[in-house]
Amino acid sequence: MNFLYELKSFLFPKNVLDFDKASPVNPNSRGIPVPTAKMLEGPHTLKLAAEVCPTGAIQIISDSEVQFDYGKCLQCGLCTECSAGKLRDSGFIYTFALHREELKVSYVNGRMQKIKDPHPLAPNQNLFRSLTKKRGFLYREVAASGNNTVESELNASFNSVFDSEREGVRCVASPKHADAIVFSGPVGINMSAPLQTAWDVMAEPKALIACGTEAVSGGLYPMGPLPKEPDLYISGDPPRPDVILQGFRLLMGRFSFRFQEALHKILENEK
Ligand code: SF4
Repeated sequence: MNFLYELKSFLFPKNVLDFDKASPVNPNSRGIPVPTAKMLEGPHTLKLAAEVCPTGAIQIISDSEVQFDYGKCLQCGLCTECSAGKLRDSGFIYTFALHREELKVSYVNGRMQKIKDPHPLAPNQNLFRSLTKKRGFLYREVAASGNNTVESELNASFNSVFDSEREGVRCVASPKHADAIVFSGPVGINMSAPLQTAWDVMAEPKALIACGTEAVSGGLYPMGPLPKEPDLYISGDPPRPDVILQGFRLLMGRFSFRFQEALHKILENEK
């Protein structure tokens, strides 16, 4: 039986990568907040929502424009609760990108602004992609002052539903054996040196992956120093295992995804 299952998984990998079927997103999951049609009354009406946001993810830019930094968003829903119907929970949780700026979205008069061109890949991102697309990669996890929720989800990414190893992605004990560092947390004062050391002992080419909102932006805390600009940002507090895995697949070039495009499509389809 196991042999047949493994054979099927090997021959038809897509059948076993449909995470939505295997483990559907909870219908009550909040996801990121997005404006509703009521936002036409103007972003100034979101002043209270911007004030209650614990991470400063909402910025009122002008009388017609508001910017959400989804790299700071904890998906806590506080802003939607006090927005008098001008914001709603979208249920959308796939907040990951290869460039930090892609997680910042502006809405003008309640409409998502034109999607910017994708940022070109950095040379090390290209090299990492070409080397890992077929074989996958090994990573060392560094818990850099987080609260262990990301670690729980990373553990779950190895269970039989998400099965990280099917993608050739495995966790190793030493950074010397790793192709990438996956770190969580805002990198507090006691963890910046260990993170830097783990990064320094790795051989090139290598990638730095920020996993969880705190690792992307600091979240509720000030962000500590990083060895370099991360090559992949996976936001969410914490991100689900399938979100983490899809982020890894994006980094390896195994599927094409742009956060802003996906969000735009969802918002347009819901009209
Ligand atoms: S962190 Fe909470 S309050 Fe701030 S934008 Fe995200 S859901 Fe809204």
